[in-house]
Amino acid sequence: MKTLRFILGDQLSRELASLRDIDAGTDVVLMAEVMDEATYVRHHKKKIAFVFSAMRHFATELQDRGYQVDYRRLDDRQYGKSLRATLVQAVKRHRPDRVVVTEPGEWRLLTDMRDWQSACGRPVEIRDDDRFLCARKQFNDWFDAQKQPRMEYFYRQMRRQTGYLMVADKPAGGRWNFDTENRNPLKDNVELPAIKQFRPDAITADVLTLVDERFADHFGELTPFRFAVTRSQALAVLRHFIANALPRFGDYQDAMLQDERFLFHSILSLYLNIGLLTPREVCDRVENAYQSGHVPLNCAEGFIRQIIGWREYVRGIYFHEMPDYADNNYFSAQGKLPVFYWTGETDMNCLHQVISQTRDEAYAHHIQRLMITGNFAMLAGVAPGEIHDWYLRVYADAYEWVELPNTLGMSQFADGGLLGSKPYAAGGNYINKMSNYCQHCRYKVSAKSGPDACPFNYLYWDFLIRNRDQLEHNRRLAFPYKHLARMSEERIAQIHRDSRRFLQSL
Ligand SMILES: Cc1cc2nc3c(=O)[nH]c(=O)nc-3n(C[C@H](O)[C@H](O)[C@H](O)COP(=O)(O)OP(=O)(O)OC[C@H]3O[C@@H](n4cnc5c(N)ncnc54)[C@H](O)[C@@H]3O)c2cc1C
Ligand code: SF4
Repeated sequence: MKTLRFILGDQLSRELASLRDIDAGTDVVLMAEVMDEATYVRHHKKKIAFVFSAMRHFATELQDRGYQVDYRRLDDRQYGKSLRATLVQAVKRHRPDRVVVTEPGEWRLLTDMRDWQSACGRPVEIRDDDRFLCARKQFNDWFDAQKQPRMEYFYRQMRRQTGYLMVADKPAGGRWNFDTENRNPLKDNVELPAIKQFRPDAITADVLTLVDERFADHFGELTPFRFAVTRSQALAVLRHFIANALPRFGDYQDAMLQDERFLFHSILSLYLNIGLLTPREVCDRVENAYQSGHVPLNCAEGFIRQIIGWREYVRGIYFHEMPDYADNNYFSAQGKLPVFYWTGETDMNCLHQVISQTRDEAYAHHIQRLMITGNFAMLAGVAPGEIHDWYLRVYADAYEWVELPNTLGMSQFADGGLLGSKPYAAGGNYINKMSNYCQHCRYKVSAKSGPDACPFNYLYWDFLIRNRDQLEHNRRLAFPYKHLARMSEERIAQIHRDSRRFLQSL
């Protein structure tokens, strides 16, 4: 039976479900760079280059292993504008008996894919994406059985299921979570590891020219381009991280430093999300590094929790809650995204740092995303859809299954507390504690009001006052609301004046 196996751009895994039973003698692998996928949101130039280059390398690797690959390049004269059109054309060309695909990571595409059978006139089998450690059904069963389906409980179940950092049925070190030890600020005299970089080869150079020509008006700097684009390069990044950064990953997980973009982070999300690495192999190696005494427990635990905990959890939430999840707007926020999210031109140094880095690298680490750009958008009342669109465009690792719950749920609290128990809202004090950004800022982090005061300071209180009905009964916010109750009328009026003046100036 001749099978057409359609592989999407973030499915570059040798063990992919839709490649598993491939017959090199009869089957055809279809891969395509399509305009609709590159532009349905206008992705960062580096992200498009990364995906196209990794796809071309993966196709070459499959061909080298003897498979027949029909690879449609964006600059081929005859290409489908959409995945569906590409499939219809390919079915006409190859006349397969059936089509096999792996389910995509976006609801939009899954809905479309369910209709491909009637579009192409062949049976289309959609296989589960089993590159994750928790199947969608397993997550749904767990979620529906919980009173409070919080990540922490899910994570403990995943620790038991995988056996990572377990001693018999108990967590190593006697605790599930070492987060309290993972909140150290970084001094600027701590030596930081260099990141692993790769020089573009001929395939990547071709892709860079294409992206430069066809996506010139998209956000972001295209060069220098230094991402890994093959599995062996991605494995080198993983080895480099474990040897050089993981031993201090936990300690400085939440820290931020002026002009330092990567710190002790892994920069692995883009490779995991596109399929060049699997979550299991990454965690296996981290566990081995812990067992061999190379990394302390708080670092191994902090890292493994992000992968088997948060990463699997947000995917579960996404598919459990879609399609309605994307429309959540708990605070009814309607504000526009400030223009400086596209230019980085703002006197607020923390935002300038994170946005400039995002433009240059298509990367920011978690606390930069959560507590700088996300926090500001929430405090400023930006509509969740606007900020969701921004995050989906600007990061090389952004796919809706992982980006939407992180943005809408974790960073904007737009789901009203389904994903997090309280909004990640913070004033300048937090940013000053976890970074040295404030030392380089024109605003004064110690000032609470007036034109020179740090805008996070009054916007934080304005946010709590504005959303009092939705938040004051949240027990985790009892302290700030008690503080608010003791605030004078004059102080509250000042907060309103400062916030209005500032927001109108944007
Ligand atoms: C508003 C917002 C949007 C985000 N959008 C994305 C996104 O589009 N794609 C994405 O992969 N991550 C996203 N995250 C999660 C997280 O910020 C990134 O995974 C992380 O910064 C990637 O950098 P790293 O590989 O150096 O991570 P590290 O700090 O080294 O962490 C290790 C790994 O853990 C995983 N991880 C860590 N935190 C999370 C999380 N909250 N959710 C899922 N996986 C996690 C990632 O695979 C990451 O590679 C977002 C977070 C926020 C607050
Ligand atoms: S003073 Fe305020 S705006 Fe400036 S860097 Fe610090 S937190 Fe950001």
